Amino acid sequence: MASYFKPPDLKLFNTMSMQKEPFNTIVPGKVTMFVCGPTVQSYLHVGHARTYNFYDIVARYLSHLGYEVNFLMNVTDIDDKITQTAREEGTEPMRLAERYTKAFLEDMESLKIYTVTKYERVSNYVQETISEVASLIRSGHAYVVDGMVYFDTSKFPDFGKLSHQTPSQLSLVPLELSLKKKHLLDFAVWRSVELVQGRWDSPWGRGSPGWHIQDTAVTMTNFGAQYDIHGGAYDLIYPHHEAEIAQVESLTGVKPSVKYWVHTSLVNTTGSKMSKSAGNALTLREVLKEYGPDTLRLYLLSYHYRQDMEFEEKGLKQMHGVYTRMKADANTIEERRATKARRRDSGKVLAPFYACLNDDFDTPGAIAFIRKLLEDGATEKDQNQVELYYEALRITSNILGVNIFGRFR
Ligand SMILES: [Zn+2]
Repeated sequence: MASYFKPPDLKLFNTMSMQKEPFNTIVPGKVTMFVCGPTVQSYLHVGHARTYNFYDIVARYLSHLGYEVNFLMNVTDIDDKITQTAREEGTEPMRLAERYTKAFLEDMESLKIYTVTKYERVSNYVQETISEVASLIRSGHAYVVDGMVYFDTSKFPDFGKLSHQTPSQLSLVPLELSLKKKHLLDFAVWRSVELVQGRWDSPWGRGSPGWHIQDTAVTMTNFGAQYDIHGGAYDLIYPHHEAEIAQVESLTGVKPSVKYWVHTSLVNTTGSKMSKSAGNALTLREVLKEYGPDTLRLYLLSYHYRQDMEFEEKGLKQMHGVYTRMKADANTIEERRATKARRRDSGKVLAPFYACLNDDFDTPGAIAFIRKLLEDGATEKDQNQVELYYEALRITSNILGVNIFGRFR
């Protein structure tokens, strides 16, 4: 069946080429997508919500187009920040990580993100990480110094290709300062630091896997040498994603390891403390409690994913008003449906909606289209036309994961 799959007219901006590229997967009809998940040492903030909500839309839309979507997300439960917070709170790092992993999964549920096929805790991949590090040492891509193992960036001439920087430009970013490294840009793939005391033995002594290679272990184990989409926030491009490329492509020799590098822009919350939580950064839980998932999703999607976003309570309130009107119109349309009206093919009506999403996920355009559809539909008298609007709205609101009818999630 897959070999007859006709790729859609979708174009996706690839950070690697800095261009919108036609979307074509490695295996026709199937998509493999990996997105960097959270470091579980605190509750999610709205920046996380924006990123995960966007890839949820990508997964929903690709499924709608007929793809079988394999959406993998890691959970970083080994990290200095976790150890640090655990120490401050007088608890064990793994216990703290477990608590926030649970909170993270609850928040994804509250956000109505059901598209993730598999969440993988990186602590379950330490053995895979160790074999990858050993393999990098054998092939001369990594070296050992006093229980630390560093990736030798001089052995990977492509280093910097994702961030479009030369090694001397990258050197301006201070990174893992150490006198033991051979080159300024080298990064640790194994650290002598015991992030969870005594837990991991390796051929280089007790220690912990470096951050970047934890994700490489997860992707290579699940997807192999090559997969379709790698997502994450823009600030992960360097050093994190650059390092992932260096590791995978050195281990496998297959290039490119990822077909589409897709990055979401950042959310600025500086001026947007919620009125009730004086002084605290905006947690996702507060926002969800106050406004619910639909308003939040609409608000996040009202910015194109590559556009930086100023997150303001004013904007949320405004969007809540918009959402209330959308539901009222949807309700009117639902009430006007005749029980005997024929189901109509909404394909033609939906063309502008598809055109928006096909153009590198123009979600602001898609929302504007749905609002127009609702306004027009709510004043329509012809039964067959009402049915057409209803059908079109059911499809579009499902793709954006926004509940306007009450019955649909
Ligand atoms: Zn990552």
